[in-house]
Amino acid sequence: MNNKTIFEESKKYIPGGVNSPVRALKDMGITPPIIKSGMGSKIYDEENKEYIDFVGAWGPMILGHCNSRVVDAIKNTSETAIAFGAPTKLELDLAKLLCETASIDMIRMVNSGTEATMSAIKLARGYTKRNKIVKFAGCYHGHYDGFLVSAGSGVMTCGIPGSAGIPKEHIEHTIVANYNDIDNLKEIFTAYSNDIACVIIEPIAGNMGVVKPSMEFMENLDKLCKNNGTLLIFDEVMCGFRIAYKGARELFPNVKPDLITYGKIIGGGLPCGAYGGRREIMELLAPLGPVYQAGTMSGNPLVMAAGIATVKELHEKQDIYTHIETIGTRLENGIKEISKEKNINVVINRVGGMMTVFFTDLNEINNYEDAKSCNTNIFRKYFMHMLDKGINLPPSQFEAMFLSISHSEDDINKFLTAYKSFNI
Ligand SMILES: *Cc1c(COP(=O)(O)O)cnc(C)c1O
Repeated sequence: MNNKTIFEESKKYIPGGVNSPVRALKDMGITPPIIKSGMGSKIYDEENKEYIDFVGAWGPMILGHCNSRVVDAIKNTSETAIAFGAPTKLELDLAKLLCETASIDMIRMVNSGTEATMSAIKLARGYTKRNKIVKFAGCYHGHYDGFLVSAGSGVMTCGIPGSAGIPKEHIEHTIVANYNDIDNLKEIFTAYSNDIACVIIEPIAGNMGVVKPSMEFMENLDKLCKNNGTLLIFDEVMCGFRIAYKGARELFPNVKPDLITYGKIIGGGLPCGAYGGRREIMELLAPLGPVYQAGTMSGNPLVMAAGIATVKELHEKQDIYTHIETIGTRLENGIKEISKEKNINVVINRVGGMMTVFFTDLNEINNYEDAKSCNTNIFRKYFMHMLDKGINLPPSQFEAMFLSISHSEDDINKFLTAYKSFNI
């Protein structure tokens, strides 16, 4: 069966033919490649077409597809341990690794980024005994009801303002702030300060395309939270172990989040999430405390094994980040140069192996409004052109593309050669 017949058949059994909306390439009006296999920086579809992959499963594949250490860990573990629903040593190993890296006391494993962020919010509310949460426009924290307001990413690409099926009572405690805008945040704190349980932020945003907050903004955000008894949650589901080994903790050393959420990379490509923080907060979780959160599959041995293999590899070989920075710089500079020659106006935001090419006449993209003003028609043409040339990119202006250790100079050259023949 070719891509089209598989996808048409899938549409009969799976809504939209996909298990997560963005994969359908609905905006592009084409059949998505049906992916059969992947190795290193390459993926292959059912028609055996090869693509250099810059999606990387939306972030997790920082070691490339089917990295041998990860494959071995999954294979070996599967021979003796698939699921018990009981404590295992593997959970301890990953928990220790994550706590040491993030400088936190305790962590709880869950099965997805969504679960991590929604549980962190509940914990923050339980700890502070307050109701309101502040999120930033353009940040995505998963599909929990309370977050589906100005949620960027796939929610944005679908053109739906949030989602149907959410009673307004579920979002009445969600306050949306402007990213990189400390005055706006101060106003919000003035209005609601003694009822704000937490502020949740992507410390490097990736879900409105890559947007970096200023150091000043982050430090003031931290101060505002501390002064108002509000917890600060770093949602590092995407940027954790991605922008640097220690994630946003490394980029903003003076900012001390109370809770951190993880996902994506920490599961090595298997379904995983985690949230952690200070002991006095984490010990409010059941069975120790009154905040209930559970999961039949949480801490699954195969997931833990893949996560440990990935995080250990990153820990032992931190020149991985140097390589990613080197090829990232080359790619960024190359695209800028070619764009200039062709009179295509772009802004490129990149932090380590997370990058977005914004098609815009603006000089900078610093928030959701800036991102939304970009030219999605040019983006669509660019995406289709690159896909045709065997370069797999995220199919939206409001997503990050990802680099991995397996991307070579040659892959970057091929990207740039493909981009050279792009015309708007
Ligand atoms: C992907 C993502 C999530 C949601 O994770 P899922 O595993 O898709 O539920 C949450 N927050 C951020 C920042 C993400 O990038």
